[in-house]
Amino acid sequence: MLNRRDFLERSALLSALGFLPRSISAEEYEADVTRTVLPAHFRARPCVVSSANGIKGVQLAYDRIGSGEDALDAIIAGVNLVELDPTDQSVGLGGLPNEDGVVQLDASCMHGPTRRAGAVGCLEDIATPSLVAKAVMDYTTHVLLVGEGARKFAVAMGFKTQNLLTEKSRQDWQRWKSRLSKTDNWLDHDDDVKINWTHGTINMNAVTAAGDVSSVTTTSGLAWKLNGRLGDSPIHGAGQYTDNDVGAAGATGLGEMNIKVCGGFLTVEFMRQGLTPEQAGLKTLERMVRQSEARMLDDKGRPRYDMQLYAVGKDGRYGGVSMYEGASFAVCDDKGARLERCAFLFKNSERPR
Ligand code: ASP
Repeated sequence: MLNRRDFLERSALLSALGFLPRSISAEEYEADVTRTVLPAHFRARPCVVSSANGIKGVQLAYDRIGSGEDALDAIIAGVNLVELDPTDQSVGLGGLPNEDGVVQLDASCMHGPTRRAGAVGCLEDIATPSLVAKAVMDYTTHVLLVGEGARKFAVAMGFKTQNLLTEKSRQDWQRWKSRLSKTDNWLDHDDDVKINWTHGTINMNAVTAAGDVSSVTTTSGLAWKLNGRLGDSPIHGAGQYTDNDVGAAGATGLGEMNIKVCGGFLTVEFMRQGLTPEQAGLKTLERMVRQSEARMLDDKGRPRYDMQLYAVGKDGRYGGVSMYEGASFAVCDDKGARLERCAFLFKNSERPR
């Protein structure tokens, strides 16, 4: 596994020895991938990349793209698998609730070829916010609906309402609540039961053989969040971003940090300048650290939060990066679906204790 310095050194060495394709200049990159009418020789390698919890979804989406389905429809079908899985507590049905015990979901999507976007935030009672985000895109002149209005819209569009709080998520919420204070009226219970994590999301991005790109992100957001909190996932340019001339990128991790650097957008912009998806993601993470307020950094300037970015270029190059060592991401291309290790900025031993 490589950290950033190793990666850059190794790339420079391999490139000098002729083992890697020569890096292209920004002008050449622009000329090759940003024209509306692509050169006759242009052919992308179809590829789907996502957060690690999308390992089944990337295969499904890749197969659908292979049979000619639109990239956005294909990746939404991929993330629906996770949204509808009651055992995944980070997304859709079974997602961990807010501090009031209410599951509020966020999602956004962008469709590269038609340059359209849709999103919903704080959506209650509908298990597939990614599809509601797409409905906002397909059936309205707006790009973002939130709260009661988003729910009303979804019901009007025929989405089924249901209770999204599973028994497991309800118990975890009660456990969290009872442990908040020793002086409240809740007795602490099940003290040996750990609540393992409190956030998660699925982001998925795809490119077709024609070089058409799309992205989607869907989440229940931070567990125990304040009622009404929106993370990065429903924000175009933060939780995901697509520019059909360049590629797509999206994020999982502490949304508040990502929103401040427009991480999805910034990663795509770095790719536009000629960086690979992996280099672009690492540069975005560096910017995020730089933009972090003091309370989010330790005394050595290392972040007290995690973040992952996933990106695919219009030509089918892809990458996954993480603030700290050890994360993986899911990818599917002509070599099949697999998990790969994320490149990272900081070693695990550097994590603030
Ligand atoms: N990015 C999500 C949010 O802040 C949470 C996550 O990815 O873990 O809502």
